[in-house]
Amino acid sequence: MSLTSATHNAPNLEQECLDILKHTFGYAEFREGQWAVIDSILRGQDSLVLMPTGGGKSLCYQVPALALEGVTVVVSPLISLMQDQVQQLLSQGVKAAYLNSSQTPEQSDKITRELHAGELQVIYLAPERLLQPYFINSIKNLSLALIAVDEAHCVSQWGHDFRQEYRRLGELKDIFPNVPMVALTATADHATQVDIQHQLRLENPFIHKGGFDRPNIRYNLLAKYKGAVQVVDFIKQQQGNSGIVYCNSRAKVDDITQKLTSAGLSCGAYHAGKDTSERERIQNLFLSDDLQVVVATVAFGMGINKSNVRFVVHHDVPRSIESFYQETGRAGRDGMPAEALLLYDDKDAARIKKWIADGSTPQRFQLEMHKFEAMQSFAEAQTCRRQVLLNYFGDARQASCGNCDICQFPPKMFDGTRVAQKLLSCIYRLKGETNGQYVIDILRGKSHRKILDLKHNELSTHGIGKDQPDQYWHNIIQQVIHQGLIRIDMTQNGILRLNEAAKYVLKGEQVVNLAVPKFSVSSAAKNKYEPSSIDTKLFAKLKHLRKQLADENNVPAFTVFSDASLADMTSRLPVSKADFLEVTGVGEKKLQKYGEPFTRLIADYLSAQ
Ligand code: ADP
Ligand code: ZN
Repeated sequence: MSLTSATHNAPNLEQECLDILKHTFGYAEFREGQWAVIDSILRGQDSLVLMPTGGGKSLCYQVPALALEGVTVVVSPLISLMQDQVQQLLSQGVKAAYLNSSQTPEQSDKITRELHAGELQVIYLAPERLLQPYFINSIKNLSLALIAVDEAHCVSQWGHDFRQEYRRLGELKDIFPNVPMVALTATADHATQVDIQHQLRLENPFIHKGGFDRPNIRYNLLAKYKGAVQVVDFIKQQQGNSGIVYCNSRAKVDDITQKLTSAGLSCGAYHAGKDTSERERIQNLFLSDDLQVVVATVAFGMGINKSNVRFVVHHDVPRSIESFYQETGRAGRDGMPAEALLLYDDKDAARIKKWIADGSTPQRFQLEMHKFEAMQSFAEAQTCRRQVLLNYFGDARQASCGNCDICQFPPKMFDGTRVAQKLLSCIYRLKGETNGQYVIDILRGKSHRKILDLKHNELSTHGIGKDQPDQYWHNIIQQVIHQGLIRIDMTQNGILRLNEAAKYVLKGEQVVNLAVPKFSVSSAAKNKYEPSSIDTKLFAKLKHLRKQLADENNVPAFTVFSDASLADMTSRLPVSKADFLEVTGVGEKKLQKYGEPFTRLIADYLSAQ
């Protein structure tokens, strides 16, 4: 049955929407917040939805789109997002289409005809197209069910992706005064939320504010030392899963790509210096699981809907917690366990501070410095990382998470006074010749050209730290910086300098507590959300079949089934149609299309046991 908004009050409405959820999308129940939003839309009320990435925003308008009469218009800022969403909806048997500049006139004529003939349930549009006077005029008399504004933070200049055309979306209220509007976003601070309501002229909206937490993402941090090696080690632990490595410059992207390739990893580079066709090629290979890793600048990722990204690595520290959260948020959209790794180096931090100081106007300076310092305190925290992150967004938590490196492997402290004294006296004796690596070379007793020329091999501190490897000393230097005993002087090429407080340590008047350095993510580390008993052999076979079917149908693998659906298959072991329908993410259409090959594989697998 279809409804017009505001005219219904059937008591079984929730059941009807649950039926849509089950039959079309293959899910048994709504997630936190979804039903409340859908309910308010069905009552004809405007709404504002704040939900973290992967929280399930799309269903908040897709279920009403199927329950209500008329077509639902979805405003979306990016062509790739529209294409992904439409592909997903078509695979679920929903009559959906998009209109954007990537299409030929014939293609858009065809869609426009379908729109006017009432054959579409959902139409995705870029705001530029929607707001063209000719287009608005042409749809004025259509029966619209709902207007959904996705990535709604784009209306606000306080948000991080302001789009001029989004500003004008409020005009839609004059033209369609009785059509409910829902605005959705994952990131909007208070000012942005107020601005969204104001700009879109939402009338007394129902507001759903989900928290910011992404519980399935495990946060890890390592002091960066030979970053490329650390990244290779980490990716090798990921068993072929998809991931993204972010770097802060094009040159770094190229360099890391080359190093990962030499280490035998399947990866491609993506940055604004590459031409459009190469960028598209890399993106498509990644979407179709033909490339394991994309190494990229922040230019990559907006509009990537790939739900089975299993890890995100930051080779370089981002400039703000917002960026870090958004970029790591691209992992684990399907709700399955995912990893985030940040490599942190104080020298990177000092460099960024210098860029901010050199490059900003006085007004921006305070803001950018403040944002970066927050990022830095996240990296230097010795308490639960998730708590630091969520607190930043005002989503305070009392309990530590149990799913970050600090919670799982709390720093082991030791009396590091002797170790710190060795380092400090070495810096003292080098009298300004204190580039970090040079200090390490002296401590380790190396005798290269420069050391011999400067006769630093004759210093009493030469070789006093040779019992430990380079990366140990690198890590100790970082800790001693965090404790305020030394600092990095960026005006002198980043050399190390003693602070006043170092004097008391050198004189033995102050104790220094240090943490035992960690160099790689422990292979014992386990995501708290890892299903306890997944049959990895069967899972691999299911993945293989998914990839085969995806290639045959020319769609990305994750649109055939999410990792969550495959994992559910390994525990339910469906061999009949009825059993297959119980799998999460399996609706009628998916059953029809893929039920046979998957149940056959599982039956064969079981009989071979
Ligand atoms: P968002 O747009 O908020 O980032 P999506 O709408 O893409 O999130 O949803 C993220 C994932 O969660 C998708 O794979 C989606 O199919 C799944 N999902 C959404 N709602 C539910 C639900 N009620 N039950 C199970 N999975 C869901
Ligand atoms: Zn934690």
